[in-house]
Amino acid sequence: MSRIASVLLPMPLPEAFDYAEPEGMDLDVGDQVAAPLGPRLLRGVVVGLREGAGGNRALKALDSRLDEPRLPANTLEFVQWAARYAVDAPGQPLAIALRGARAPRPKPVRVVEVTGAQPARPTPARTRVLQAVAEAALAPPDLARAAGVSSGVVKGLIDEGVLSVRSVDPVARFEEPDLSRQGSTLNASQAAAAAALVGMMGEGGFNVALLDGVTGSGKTEVYLEAAAAALAADPTAQVLILLPEIALTQAVIGRVTQRFGAAPGEWHSDVAPPARRRVWEAVANSRCRIVVGARSALFLPFPNLKLIVVDEEHDGSFKQEEGFIYQARDLAVVRGKIEEAAVVLASATPSLETLRNAETGRYRWLRLSARHGTAQLPDIELVDLRATPPEPGRWLSPPLVAAMRETYARGEQTLLFLNRRGYAPLVLCRACGERMTAPDTDSWLVEHRYSGRLVCHLTGFSMLKPAACPHCGAKDSLVSIGPGVERVEEEARGLFPEARVSVFSSDTMFDAREARRLVEAMADGEIDILVATQAAAKGHNFPKLTLVGVVDADLGLRGGDLRAAERTYQLLAQATGRAGRHDRSGHALLQTYAPEHAVMQALKAQDRDAFVAAEMAERELAGLPPFGRLAAVIASGTDPAQLDAFMRAMAEAAPNAGGVEVYGPADAPLGLIRGRRRKRFLVRADRGVDLSAYMATWRARVKPPNSVRVAIDIDPYSF
Ligand code: ADP
Repeated sequence: MSRIASVLLPMPLPEAFDYAEPEGMDLDVGDQVAAPLGPRLLRGVVVGLREGAGGNRALKALDSRLDEPRLPANTLEFVQWAARYAVDAPGQPLAIALRGARAPRPKPVRVVEVTGAQPARPTPARTRVLQAVAEAALAPPDLARAAGVSSGVVKGLIDEGVLSVRSVDPVARFEEPDLSRQGSTLNASQAAAAAALVGMMGEGGFNVALLDGVTGSGKTEVYLEAAAAALAADPTAQVLILLPEIALTQAVIGRVTQRFGAAPGEWHSDVAPPARRRVWEAVANSRCRIVVGARSALFLPFPNLKLIVVDEEHDGSFKQEEGFIYQARDLAVVRGKIEEAAVVLASATPSLETLRNAETGRYRWLRLSARHGTAQLPDIELVDLRATPPEPGRWLSPPLVAAMRETYARGEQTLLFLNRRGYAPLVLCRACGERMTAPDTDSWLVEHRYSGRLVCHLTGFSMLKPAACPHCGAKDSLVSIGPGVERVEEEARGLFPEARVSVFSSDTMFDAREARRLVEAMADGEIDILVATQAAAKGHNFPKLTLVGVVDADLGLRGGDLRAAERTYQLLAQATGRAGRHDRSGHALLQTYAPEHAVMQALKAQDRDAFVAAEMAERELAGLPPFGRLAAVIASGTDPAQLDAFMRAMAEAAPNAGGVEVYGPADAPLGLIRGRRRKRFLVRADRGVDLSAYMATWRARVKPPNSVRVAIDIDPYSF
């Protein structure tokens, strides 16, 4: 009796396909296979096997089983759960889960080893080489560098038979974390939090804890202690640490390496394909026991995941907004449940969703209310820009410049925070008033001086800044309006010509290595004034940073979506929290036109609880998250008539359900992107409603015309 294999392909198809299992293939669920689809052979994953009609000739047979690691059952269950939750095809999250499997394997690496033979002629250089070999397995050129000798010395020892070179599989070269190493000696509240986490893991099974500690309280130390306990309790246990930004992964990789004497697996979009493949495979075969990564690391094939840490859990970057749309923090909790693992959500400014779960007792709530050691939280001062405005065409007010001057004179560092990339957010023509916009897109072009280009931050479109207005033809009439980080950098350089000024934004750091270099330079005191977007505002530890100036504290409050106040509070608390993290006291100045705003008052008073209570009350009244659920339907199309007709049909087809309200259709916040008009419905539901099921039913009722694309966004962040 032959079997039928149900195979999921990593593409947007509604379900798995059935294939006949050829004689002798002996498949298991989770196996990777080559499956024929039309004229092509595609990589797929077996998600089910059943006895089938041997005579069913309509079924195509699988081509082969790939010699690749099997996806663990839990990973497959997670992929399918995620698809149902996001109201999307299961092939979409599967494609994320296979991202490492499809990358090319890294080449074998050559490492030098001792043979046991003694050198005939020991010289100091040769002795240094032998010492370096004992410390680490390195390739010949790296060994020469580590020992500080010429490559000839290493070659001589190899020729003499004292050293030999072996080719090893890089996947097999993941070092085991050294669990005999001790972390920092924890202070009393850190030790209590760590003990609570270890106790929670000791109970076994799924549990979630909120590690709620002010910036600099030692949350990282505490969760690394929990990681050590998880790894020690089970020789195959694995730990995943998720971070919202690549720049932050670099810092945490450094701390993990220090703590365990072994580098963790690194996983984010900047990791080159062979390195990605290495981590993927090493995770699948349990060689890699700690992964530090961005949100997509959640889809790695862990066979025995015991602890998931979501650091900076409140961060909006955990929400993936394109392609497969998901909130990684929420899915981390789901994965924890499927794996029966512990989940730690860490933040100084937790999301209201997580705080609500802590308040109601669903999550354990561990608080660290003071900074470690003698470090104090910075004092926060509001600079009323109406009373003390900067000079015309400038962005730094006299009080902020004065504070910078004192800081510089003391040899300490200033961080100027402005969450806006580029030089100026808007370029317009003085002659005709035309605003420079991206073609076919509702978004202003941002001027970037480094590259001399006008850039659309939404679509990536860019053009050289024209000499004349493209609209009226006036020469030299284009003016830059408003500040971006590059412009603030220019102003800071003008004010402090001797100071070392740098910019930290995604435009000035092209990759993870560049980000790490800048973070290290800042940490080592090689920069006096750092002008940064949010990429540098979070998580980092800069000992000599004592002043934080927020250039435009009101920026995030404009636009006014549901989370504007919450997000502004979080971002500014994080940014100001960079100041004074060690023995020197810190100071933060927030430049604002609205000092009386609840967010500014809460920041100044450092009264998070009052802010949260007020914000919670408002949300509860309106039935908004965390007291209700939201989802959006975003439809886009090139033919406005067809798009409108589709939206009308959707409006008609909305299922009637208690506790659900549908708003729209309306224009989406970005009504035009790359020539596609965008419309949306917003859905609010009571907490008890299965909103994913509701959205799936609704979506299935109307088939969109070919010109219309539809996406469902569960828990939308921008609307
Ligand atoms: P958080 O993650 O809460 O922002 P960190 O874990 O980064 O805090 O700790 C802030 C700083 O204090 C770091 O430089 C860290 O090494 C140091 N630190 C925290 N706890 C201890 C401790 N128990 N012993 C020594 N240093 C500590």
